[in-house]
Amino acid sequence: MGEYFNVADIFGEDVFSDKVMQERLPKKVYRALKKTIEEGTQLDLATADVIAAAMKDWAIEKGATHYTHWFQPLTGVTAEKHDSFITAPNPDGTILMEFSGKELIKGEPDASSFPSGGLRATFEARGYTAWDCTSPAFVRHDAAGATLCIPTAFCSYTGEALDQKTPLLRSMEAINTQSLRLLRLFGNTTSKRVTPSVGPEQEYFLVDEKKFLQRKDLIFTGRTLFGAMPPKGQELDDHYFGTIRQRIASFMKDVNLQLWKLGVTAKTQHNEVAPAQHELAPIYAEANVAVDHNQIVMQTLKRVACQHGMKCLLHEKPFAGVNGSGKHNNWSLATDDGINLLDPGKTPHENVQFLLVLTCILKAVDTYADLLRESAADPGNDHRLGANEAPPAIISIFLGEQLQDVMTQLISTGTATHSIKGGVLETGVKTLPDLTKDATDRNRTSPFAFTGNKFEFRMVGSRDSIASPNIVLNTIVADAFCDACDLLEKADDFDTAVHDLIKQYASEHQRIVFNGNGYADEWVAEAERRGLPNIKSMVDAIPALTTEKAIQLFGRFKVFTKAELESRVEVKYENYAKAINIEARTMIDVASKQIIPAVIKYTKVLADTINAVTAAGAEVSVQTELLQETSALLSDTKVALAKLTEVTNEAAKLPEGETKARYYYEVVTAAMAELRAPVDALEMIVDKDMWPMPSYGDLLFEV
Ligand code: ADP
Ligand code: MG
Repeated sequence: MGEYFNVADIFGEDVFSDKVMQERLPKKVYRALKKTIEEGTQLDLATADVIAAAMKDWAIEKGATHYTHWFQPLTGVTAEKHDSFITAPNPDGTILMEFSGKELIKGEPDASSFPSGGLRATFEARGYTAWDCTSPAFVRHDAAGATLCIPTAFCSYTGEALDQKTPLLRSMEAINTQSLRLLRLFGNTTSKRVTPSVGPEQEYFLVDEKKFLQRKDLIFTGRTLFGAMPPKGQELDDHYFGTIRQRIASFMKDVNLQLWKLGVTAKTQHNEVAPAQHELAPIYAEANVAVDHNQIVMQTLKRVACQHGMKCLLHEKPFAGVNGSGKHNNWSLATDDGINLLDPGKTPHENVQFLLVLTCILKAVDTYADLLRESAADPGNDHRLGANEAPPAIISIFLGEQLQDVMTQLISTGTATHSIKGGVLETGVKTLPDLTKDATDRNRTSPFAFTGNKFEFRMVGSRDSIASPNIVLNTIVADAFCDACDLLEKADDFDTAVHDLIKQYASEHQRIVFNGNGYADEWVAEAERRGLPNIKSMVDAIPALTTEKAIQLFGRFKVFTKAELESRVEVKYENYAKAINIEARTMIDVASKQIIPAVIKYTKVLADTINAVTAAGAEVSVQTELLQETSALLSDTKVALAKLTEVTNEAAKLPEGETKARYYYEVVTAAMAELRAPVDALEMIVDKDMWPMPSYGDLLFEV
């Protein structure tokens, strides 16, 4: 049953970790690097040279031949360009392996074809990558051999962000500064840094590779574009947390092994709600490391699946009518000395601080609900958010019964005097109940739930980078903290001022709190009454990025300039249009070349049968009826195909940007649905042996 290993021995063995740096770097260099990592000071070239040489030697010992600046352009996935360590041959024909500090801290990918939304055209033709030394380098082993991967930011020469990492790091700086201000107000003089902690729960599907390869839709788009529902769906809930089958278990074992070697703390694994759906969650890490690790997790899931004769589907909705995949983004704020700002705490003092943090988050989420919604938008997630079978795309916050009770009291009296569980609570006098012990997280329908000592943002799509949601979270909360601190720093009577402010925020933003069933239709109506935005699609969500409010917000904390926001809007419309265009063209291809020909063959078989049976003098009503039904659906298919072809061609002619994206959203996706309907009906009629691709049942239940 394969080799056994001790996790402690292999954990992080392919990471250029703090331990490795301590061992391999001269003390002075190590200290300089730590200072850069912890305080963001500039790294001089001489120091970088020493680090690069040590990193190279270490990587070569691990078998590395190449290095790459591993970065995250606006495609949602990572990009890399590999360079080998070799130098020009010496006169004697031998070569050296070299890697300089300059190569470590700065790279120049020929990046002209990464989406930049016009930024590079406006500012500078080429982009460059810069080492993010706060996320450790690692050696990745795959079919290409071993490669030293250096996590990097990707910018234009004039410093405009062309990637996800740059704004994420900026937003982390913002939340750090504002959180420290807040902590100081409460008398904390010891914490030096506040970092967002992030734990993303990754959902995914596994399907058999041979079946996958028979489905052009899965190959080209990552989701099925046709497919009738199988007789059995997820109604029995027998998959959820069910026993993991051997083939899957063996896959998970390899995934864990590879992740652990890369220092990713793969922690929980289980089957999810849908058949063939699973989840993997790491232990939370600092936001930028968590974002990088999540990319590693997604890549590893895909690679290992192939090694096991399977394919990993990361798409948000691979199968219509079956539960989709998300990525719950758990988020909290931690100080370098171990305080979690979202932990209710043990002393009255901490309680007031907690309530201020909490009400600031209510304010942030209520004020910028549209931005949070946008941060979870990608073409795949449109099928999970606000579509017919998914929960509505309304942002609200779940606090849980107990905390809700505290809030209600705060709003009515300004002081909470009791708690539901009996313990006496007076903010500023006694302690809050131990909320972590409360079953606060049992509401699974809330998009933004308080779960004891963190918030869980559940809208994020399974395939998307978690950078955007965390950029938004960090920035909007920094904004709320900043407003609060501006007021409180000036207050003569801090205690009164802070109580008033908590009460004010709690009452002004109580509309964002919803503890009921977020999937119920009544909630949609109720949310509308409360004036909460219900943004149904990615195309509708994108404009949130460039409202005056958003430009002010991101500008205030130097997370995005107006030009950067505008470029992102452009990139997003383009990405959306491209994604739907590929889907539409795939449908056209599959319908024309596979489905219609198969159905024609089937009608021929039926017609021949009718003749033969009639000649034999037997009853042919069933065959005749089937033939008529099939022919009618075939004709519907042809009409819908022609329509889809027409609108897809039309779409291609439109100018890039909102108009085009909107046309794809409104017209092309509607034509896609019209083509799908008769094809799915045909799948239920046509002889299974003649249907040109594996069914949902084959894909979901025969992994
Ligand atoms: P559940 O499925 O019950 O929500 P999981 O254990 O699957 O819980 O995932 C919870 C995730 O939240 C894990 O990644 C975990 O490390 C993370 N997490 C726990 N505490 C915190 C915290 N304080 N801040 C951020 N993430 C956290
Ligand atoms: Mg989970």
